[in-house]
Amino acid sequence: MKLLVTFSRKKGRKPIIAQAVRDTGVLINVERAVIDSSEGEALIDVPDDQCKLVSDTMIHLGATVHMLEHGISVNESECVDCGACISICPREVFSLDRNFRLRLEEEKCVLCGKCIEACPHQALTLPV
Ligand code: SF4
Ligand code: SF4
Repeated sequence: MKLLVTFSRKKGRKPIIAQAVRDTGVLINVERAVIDSSEGEALIDVPDDQCKLVSDTMIHLGATVHMLEHGISVNESECVDCGACISICPREVFSLDRNFRLRLEEEKCVLCGKCIEACPHQALTLPV
């Protein structure tokens, strides 16, 4: 299960992810992280059965946590299978099938948002 974790750094540079690993014993896979001097956002992947434990621990540490059941989604009535999203995606989420129809491997998506602007038909949306 993927979790989107946001946290403020205004009260100090608390290493929230490292603390959550230490406190829970769960190995957390960081898929994407953007951290500056005032706040941070990280997309992490944790085993489904330990998701609540990690989420509760991070909330206790001051973070906001959203559980993400889906990655990017395509509005099939808008998509024209042009392929513009394929090369822009850093995780190879998109490909064309043998009939040149867009195919998605949604579980690979790290919600970076790069494909949204690349789509000329506004057919792509993020879950949050
Ligand atoms: S949001 Fe990022 S990782 Fe997900 S499909 Fe779009 S470009 Fe790929
Ligand atoms: S860029 Fe948009 S219209 Fe083109 S294949 Fe991707 S989702 Fe479909």
